[in-house]
Amino acid sequence: MKEKEPLFGKTVSELKEICSKAGLPSYSARQIAKWLYGKDISSISQMTDLSLKHREVLSESYDYGLVPPVDCAVSSDGTRKYLYKYNANDYVEAVMIPDRERVTLCVSTQIGCRMNCAFCATARQGFKRNLTCSQILNIIRSLPEFHRITNIVYMGMGEPLDNYANVKKSIEVLTEQWGFGFSPRRITLSTSGYIPFLKEFLEETDVHLAISLHSPFPAQRKEIMPVEKTYKMEDVIKLLKRYDWTGQRRLTFEYILFKGFNDRKQHALGLVRLLGNLPCRINIIPFHSIPDSPFCGADMQDMQNFRDFLSAKGLTCTIRASRGQDILAACGLLSTKKIMENGK
Ligand code: SAH
Repeated sequence: MKEKEPLFGKTVSELKEICSKAGLPSYSARQIAKWLYGKDISSISQMTDLSLKHREVLSESYDYGLVPPVDCAVSSDGTRKYLYKYNANDYVEAVMIPDRERVTLCVSTQIGCRMNCAFCATARQGFKRNLTCSQILNIIRSLPEFHRITNIVYMGMGEPLDNYANVKKSIEVLTEQWGFGFSPRRITLSTSGYIPFLKEFLEETDVHLAISLHSPFPAQRKEIMPVEKTYKMEDVIKLLKRYDWTGQRRLTFEYILFKGFNDRKQHALGLVRLLGNLPCRINIIPFHSIPDSPFCGADMQDMQNFRDFLSAKGLTCTIRASRGQDILAACGLLSTKKIMENGK
C-alpha cells in the first residue's frame, strides 16, 4: 500500500493546490488549516465542515499525519526530553524546559548534522536526512505539553539553515493567523553561521536569531567548528550589520565556555572587538559533557567572571541555566544512545 502523505504541516498555499487537484473549492484550504492547526482532532474524517465525499477523496492520498513521541526522559529539574521515531531507525529529539510560567521547547531540524562541530553529540551521527516541515511541526504539536508551550527554539539536532525550505515553512505555519498564530518574538533560530540561507532567513522571517560563536578567533573557531573554513564569522557579521537590531528582533551570540580553551582574557577582549558595535547579547552556555570528549566545561565561577568582564566592557551578557544534565539533554545525546542500542 502506498504510504499516505501527511496533511499536517502544509501551508495554506500548498493546501489550495491539494484542494484544486482533489476537486475541492479553494476556500476549503482555510477550512482544512483551521482543523489542522486550530483544533484537537486526529483524522481527516473529523473535518466536519467538508462534505463526506471531499473527506473521502482527501483520505485516499492523505492522512492527518501526527506521530506521538516514543520515549520520554524526565530530569530531576522538570526538563523532559522526548524522542520521536520517524522511520525504521530515525530518532529525533525535543527538549521541553519548564521555567516558572515559561515553557520552552527545543526542536530538531535534521537527523544528524553536516556541520561536524567537535563538541556536539549530533555531529557523531553524521548526516542522515532533513526533517520535512510536517516532521518538524509534529515535534511541537505532538508534545504532551503542546498547549503550555510559550517559546520555541530551533536549537536541537541539525543546522536549521541547511534545511531552510522546510524550516521556513514550519515558521510560516507556526506564526501565521491561519496556522498556530504563535508570535515570532517567541521563536529563536540558532545557526552555526551557515551563510547560504542567512539572508533569506533575515528577510523572510521575523524570528530571533542566535549564532553559535564559541571563539572570537577564526583559527581557533575552525578547530572546533569546521563551518568557519567555508563560511567565515567575519562575513556572517558583515551581513548581520546590514540589518537593524535595535528593534524587537533579538540577536544573540552563543558562547560555550570551555575550560582552558576559550576562557581567557584575550578571548573576552576578542569578543569585545568583534561584537562591540553590534546591538546584540552574548549568552554563555555551560558545556554539556559528551562521551570521550577532550573538552571540559568551565565552572560557574569562571563563567561569572567572564560575564562580568564582558559586562564591564559594555556588552550585554547572560549565562544560560544548565538544565536536564541527568537526562542526556545535550543536543543529540539521547538519539545517539538509541541508535547504538538498536545496533546501528
Ligand atoms: N546547528 C545549530 C543549532 C543546533 S545546536 C547551531 O550550531 O547553532 C544548538 C546550540 O547547542 C549551539 O549553540 C551549539 O553550539 C550548542 N551545543 C552543541 N553541543 C553542545 C554541548 N555538548 N554542550 C553545550 N552546548 C552545545
